[in-house]
Amino acid sequence: KPVVAIVGRPNVGKSTIFNRIVGERVSIVEDIPGVTRDRIYSSADWLTHEFNIIDTGGIDIGEEPFLDQIRHQAEIAMDEADVIILMTNGREGVTLADEHVARILYKTKKPIVLAVNKIDNPDMREMMYDFYSLGFGEPFPISGSHGLGLGDLLDEVAKHFPEDDEEQYGDDVIKFSLIGRPNVGKSSLVNAFLGDERVIVSDIAGTTRDAIDSPYEFDGQEYVIIDTAGMRKKGKVYETTEKYSVLRALRAIERSDVVLVVLNGEEGIQEQDKKIAGYAHEAGKAVIIVVNKWDAVEKDEKTMNHTTKVIREQFQYLDYAPIVFVSAKTKKRVHSLLPVVNRANENHSMRIQSSILNEVIADAVARNPAPTDKGRRLRIYYVTQVAIKPPTFVVFVNEPELMHFSYERFLENRIRETFDFEGTPIRLITRARG
Ligand code: GDP
Repeated sequence: KPVVAIVGRPNVGKSTIFNRIVGERVSIVEDIPGVTRDRIYSSADWLTHEFNIIDTGGIDIGEEPFLDQIRHQAEIAMDEADVIILMTNGREGVTLADEHVARILYKTKKPIVLAVNKIDNPDMREMMYDFYSLGFGEPFPISGSHGLGLGDLLDEVAKHFPEDDEEQYGDDVIKFSLIGRPNVGKSSLVNAFLGDERVIVSDIAGTTRDAIDSPYEFDGQEYVIIDTAGMRKKGKVYETTEKYSVLRALRAIERSDVVLVVLNGEEGIQEQDKKIAGYAHEAGKAVIIVVNKWDAVEKDEKTMNHTTKVIREQFQYLDYAPIVFVSAKTKKRVHSLLPVVNRANENHSMRIQSSILNEVIADAVARNPAPTDKGRRLRIYYVTQVAIKPPTFVVFVNEPELMHFSYERFLENRIRETFDFEGTPIRLITRARG
């Protein structure tokens, strides 16, 4: 999907417009401890176009001076986006900070659409003429608070979408990515997979981001390692900011079948690790937890068990994810990761026959009767698998309100115990039988 980024100095209304464009999107998993939706990146659509949108204003670059902050945000947009929306405030006219952003954007060949916000009624249109001077062609008047002008703006944005953005890897190819905090060893692991002989291509201006996906074959299976684009070009100031790594992770997750959540075995688990892992879970991808730098850990025969226990406690929602201990440095167990990836991928697209599924559910209900409320009992009529990636089951019942979270969890566990869903989340949806 094409990526659109909104840039501009603070207080021009970037996040209002972002929220308008995104609309009300409720995440499927609402309550994962430690995971709060950072609303800086979301999927969106306009007419027949689907795209992803970034609010760069939400990426806080820390203690940097004001002008540096907005420069970094513009650079992120230039790195990440296919189309950039430059937002300004029509009521204030062109400011020095707007010109500063514009000068940075002159360096990119990417299409830029100029939006002038806070033009709340037609009388205010003459306030816009000033903005031609920024050199990005015709400015589009919009009103974030009234939701005006967005259609025309998005029409213009969509005109610049690349023709065929979808990569076409065959169905047999497993796409996986490595996500995690900076410095956990993601790039080192990619290099360990690919071998040292591989020439690391630098980021050449004009190449698409897909060009840095790494196709890879091992033991007769084809893979594509989805690079989180920035993994190889280090040293930018914003690289280490939390929201930026989250943004990178989200983009990689979206295109992956299997996500390897990389932890640094030398350090304890941090909040950021949990957040990043939560995104993979929430996206419904197959997940494997990889503990890297295991070579550097002082250990005895109990260390692995102990670490496993800690991870299970800290990442309770990822109880299905296998844990693999590796070292990118010594390459120990790096290649034994691949069979784990294969299996998780297989389970992620497994289909269960309805007849067998319903036997399992009937048996579960016989052992642990469905909940009641005010004298009414939940009745499960039948269960059917409606989707893969992740396996998704619809449970048809008399009254969906009678289904409790804990009972859903019980049914999920019965399904997991019966079928091998290691490495993949599964989803249960309760519906009234129509
Ligand atoms: P990324 O930011 O997650 O891509 O992390 P890098 O791959 O750049 O690694 C960060 C640092 O950790 C580098 O100095 C690596 O040499 C080091 N490193 C990576 N993997 C290992 C490992 O398995 N063992 C040890 N001891 N160091 C590692």
